[in-house]
Amino acid sequence: MHDLGIQDFLRHHIRTVPDWPAPGVQFRDITPLLQEPQVFRVLIDAFVHRYMGRALRPDLVAGLDARGFIIGAVVAYALGVGFVPIRKKGRLPFTTVAQTYELEYGSATMELHTDAVQAGDRVLLIDDLIATGGTMMAGRKLLEKLGAVVTEGAAIVDLPALGGSQRLRDTGLPVFTLVDFK
Ligand code: AMP
Repeated sequence: MHDLGIQDFLRHHIRTVPDWPAPGVQFRDITPLLQEPQVFRVLIDAFVHRYMGRALRPDLVAGLDARGFIIGAVVAYALGVGFVPIRKKGRLPFTTVAQTYELEYGSATMELHTDAVQAGDRVLLIDDLIATGGTMMAGRKLLEKLGAVVTEGAAIVDLPALGGSQRLRDTGLPVFTLVDFK
């Protein structure tokens, strides 16, 4: 799916913070990837090279709140397509569609502006990390409520042990990630 050289290079620049934000969570912090210009470029180019070809080139990139904005907006710019934010509830000023999803404890709601996409748009959905896949699934449902087609879900990091990427694939969504943490 992607070459091991890049995977190891990027993994080396992801910081693991134990017990944050809660005991037992190994937080995979991507901020060091953004901080070094050469590393940031390798990261962005890995996505841009995948999506610039005619077959996978989207009409729009949608980024998930909040780290998906950082990656998604830059990838959209490089591809020459628009960017739309999918935000946590209460942050978007115009009319929205909403999707609630389950978290380990409780639930969360994501929103998307009703005019963010047109029916039939082919949208690439981007976040920093896939754990249970719940966030990406909620984003996909929002885009589909407006008639868009999500062509692929992309993230820097996959946590395959949590099963999210496989669950997304099982629903028919292609998933592309650059680094696995077992
Ligand atoms: P999920 O919906 O379970 O796939 O969780 C993915 C979302 O939660 C992404 O937006 C991530 O930024 C965040 N997230 C979940 N687990 C982690 C983790 N271990 N390290 C960093 N971010 C995480």
